[in-house]
Amino acid sequence: MTYSLPPLPYDPAALEPHLSARILELHHGKHHQAYVDGANATLDKLAAARDQGDFASLVGLQKTLAFNVAGHVLHSLYWQNMSPDGGGRPQGELAAAIDDQFGGFDAFRAQMTAATVSVQGSGWSALVWEPLGRRLVVEQIEDHHNHSIEGARPLLVIDAWEHAYYLQYENRRAEYVEAIWNVVNWDDVATRFAAAVG
Ligand code: MN
Repeated sequence: MTYSLPPLPYDPAALEPHLSARILELHHGKHHQAYVDGANATLDKLAAARDQGDFASLVGLQKTLAFNVAGHVLHSLYWQNMSPDGGGRPQGELAAAIDDQFGGFDAFRAQMTAATVSVQGSGWSALVWEPLGRRLVVEQIEDHHNHSIEGARPLLVIDAWEHAYYLQYENRRAEYVEAIWNVVNWDDVATRFAAAVG
């Protein structure tokens, strides 16, 4: 299999009370696993289409591949972006870049919070490094892959799908996003920023 589910980097209960153990168990073990399985299954179908020289289903397969691989990528990042020792503010070069490009951490946080809360349907927010303009950008992603900028490197992502919070926060997505800020692993984000910029 090309893709496999990475283990959670902490115990499912490690992010409580901000995110419940049951949410993490289901989100990681069921939802993320489904994107991994979907990506592998779609690669198999594409291989079969090539073998048979029959590309009648290609458009649907391409869409399904993007949905599932992007879902796998985002969830793999999401787990790493959180830590029971997280929260607070970024430091160093990342903090300076956020100040420079968003007018301060509070303004950045307000924009990313709004991007997460206002996703229509299912989606994500993402802080990305856009290499052509050499700047940080906040994206609002629909599903896992729509409205994302080609070539941009995601540094910090927040899942806004209902499965990420509904069991604990019901319809109160804004409360979930406020809780997420308490567990953001800024060391992980800063490491990704340094690698992207360098
Ligand atoms: Mn999810």
